[in-house]
Amino acid sequence: MKIPFNIPPKSQNEEKYIIQAIANKKLSGEGSFNKKCSEWINKNLPTLMTVITPSCTSALEMAMVLADIGPGDEVILPSFTFTSTANVVALYGAIPVFVDVDPRTMNIDPACIEKAINPRTKVIMPVHYAGVGCEMDKIMDLANKHNIWVVEDAAQGMFASYKGKALGAWGHMAAFSYHETKNIVCGEGGALTINDPRLVKRAEIVRDKGTNRQEFLNGQVDKYTWQDKGSSYLLSELSAAFLLSQLEEGEIITSKRMTIWNQYHQGLAALEKAGRLQRMVVPEGAKANAHIYYILLNSADERAKLWSFLKEAGIQSTTHYVPLHSAPAGVKYGRVEGSMKVTDDHANRLLRLPMFADLSSADASFVLEKIQEFFKGTP
Ligand SMILES: *Cc1c(COP(=O)(O)O)cnc(C)c1O
Repeated sequence: MKIPFNIPPKSQNEEKYIIQAIANKKLSGEGSFNKKCSEWINKNLPTLMTVITPSCTSALEMAMVLADIGPGDEVILPSFTFTSTANVVALYGAIPVFVDVDPRTMNIDPACIEKAINPRTKVIMPVHYAGVGCEMDKIMDLANKHNIWVVEDAAQGMFASYKGKALGAWGHMAAFSYHETKNIVCGEGGALTINDPRLVKRAEIVRDKGTNRQEFLNGQVDKYTWQDKGSSYLLSELSAAFLLSQLEEGEIITSKRMTIWNQYHQGLAALEKAGRLQRMVVPEGAKANAHIYYILLNSADERAKLWSFLKEAGIQSTTHYVPLHSAPAGVKYGRVEGSMKVTDDHANRLLRLPMFADLSSADASFVLEKIQEFFKGTP
């Protein structure tokens, strides 16, 4: 493949920090790089508390424990998302309730959330698709009115904001991903940010296998023991060392992606005007992070043809989620509220173009040329 879909970003200090972590002789989640990563996010998001986790999936699981969800409870979320968002709900015996998305952004539609709220609703999980912020002001108003938790799935949302406030700083809790396919990476990794003071004390226990080990480390008690439900939600210090270097260079990595994003966006304007495709939309108020550049083709058939045309040219483009409400486990564990028209339609026509920090402008031009060539040969 001449132009792959993704190459993980490289930052300056990864090796140096990992060697330091080894020299520190503290390799568990209590080490100083873990602490520096949490402090970095606490300060820059900002948020009250950050747990650096082994993945976004585990951060979402920890959020479900903190929200105390169980059998009979319902969690409202989009169907157009990664498996983890719904899977963590099913894992604790609650029901994922799938609602439709806004056709402009593929983000959960607040009007659809409102229709799905009932006395069993315990959590709303907005997913910031492509790093474009959901309408968090409206979602928080709804949640506060009905006394429901909001857990943002901000896996794709690092360094993006909505109405001037960072993604991940809006909900009661939010989960980020540092998987190698995301903007900022450490191989496998994630973070849970906690924005509600009521959750902080319990979060210290839940993250550490349900123990009050934090109090022990602080010298507040002379032994620690099992206090509550919990699990092992801490990231290895070696990965945290890698992550700190990435966080420190996150703005640079993001701006490199933005350059490619803008090049695609400008380069495809004429095709959009000619009615051949639709470009992704970043609405007023959202500051995105170029996590994804996607286009919508006019039909599923045309998408398949463009995908193989690009593949022939050595360019790896990819589709995205199979809507979860139609996936086997979605049918088994979830339920649908309202129409899924936008989700089903757009999921069939969406194509993502190669996007990574070190993608050259020349390669992005080549992608654009090939797309233009495809449409020249297509009536
Ligand atoms: C990547 C992703 C996840 C899972 O992240 P991991 O760190 O691999 O667990 C969850 N939700 C969304 C929306 C994602 O894009």
